Amino acid sequence: MDRVFNFSPGPATLPTAVLERAQAELLDWRDSGMSVMEVSHRGKDFIELAAHSERVLRTLLDVPDDYRVLFLQGGATLQFAAVALNLAGPDAVADYVLTGNWGKKASGEAARFLTVNIAADAGASNYTTIPDPQSWQVTQDAAYLHYTPNETIYGVEFHEVPEISDAPLVVDMSSTILSRPIDVSRFGVIYAGAQKNIGPAGIALVIVREDLLDRARSVTPSVINYRVMADSDSMFNTPPTLAWYLASLVFDWLEEQGGLKAMAAKNRRKASKLYGAIDATAFYANPVEPTVRSWMNVPFTLADSALDAKFLEESASAGLANLKGHRSVGGMRASLYNAMPEAGVDSLVEFMAEFERRYG
Ligand SMILES: *Cc1c(COP(=O)(O)O)cnc(C)c1O
Repeated sequence: MDRVFNFSPGPATLPTAVLERAQAELLDWRDSGMSVMEVSHRGKDFIELAAHSERVLRTLLDVPDDYRVLFLQGGATLQFAAVALNLAGPDAVADYVLTGNWGKKASGEAARFLTVNIAADAGASNYTTIPDPQSWQVTQDAAYLHYTPNETIYGVEFHEVPEISDAPLVVDMSSTILSRPIDVSRFGVIYAGAQKNIGPAGIALVIVREDLLDRARSVTPSVINYRVMADSDSMFNTPPTLAWYLASLVFDWLEEQGGLKAMAAKNRRKASKLYGAIDATAFYANPVEPTVRSWMNVPFTLADSALDAKFLEESASAGLANLKGHRSVGGMRASLYNAMPEAGVDSLVEFMAEFERRYG
């Protein structure tokens, strides 16, 4: 088998064991003589799968009983609009904290539906820091406060939940969900596109506190209306059945790995190995303030950017794929989501040392 170590920021690498199981079950799922893509979402088998996936996810994240779990379409980007439409009227103000591109995009979309107050913007540091929550300019009686716990492009991550506002916290966890245990009860709404840590693209996970289910504007489309989707078990219309099935396999896999505590230990180890390698030499650099460095996305530059193309070419030949950095940051970026094995990080670190020996 010729699997490479795939450091793509998303769609991202999936656990090989999950892909193998999907392959084995593809033509004949649950002795139905059909694939999971070919059966009714209202049939017994798929309803069981949906219930099972929610049960395992609730266990993994220790989701309290007064939260609903929704599997929606449209990715995280549709949630940028959905949170505004579900949580507030047109005259409301919502606070947004910008620590990178995704927060900017989320606030831009929300601004079509309500008044956005930018409570803090780390742009002055080129998104390498998180402004101290005590300095955030929050609004009295804001409908909610939105932030991005992990900024996928700049590699900046909140390692604590900020305590500053009484408004419900709404978070885009697309690139960090399931990487470690979290205290769900601290949040009003958690949402995440699937294609980083959950499964393939095509599904978005929303975890919403029950008391926030009935604030939607009457114009809110049903498929993004949290109340409608909660009451229909996320099956108001045909859900993305294949993506949901794969997400469910990933949840099972996470449970087999020992759950999120075990994943956190492994993710922390993977990240510190890579940051350690970067910090140990002037040949490589990561610009992010050490206390807010992401465990999931590690951007790094070469001191001599003329070597970038060679680095990418040779790393790809060594079976280390998709290390090109985002155009707004340049250099490289290694995404170390749950499904990236520790051996992949070891290979990368070894390759980096070898590359430096040859070109440093
Ligand atoms: C990838 C990503 C998105 C975009 O997700 P889509 O599913 O493509 O809409 C949004 N926010 C963050 C933090 C991301 O990493």
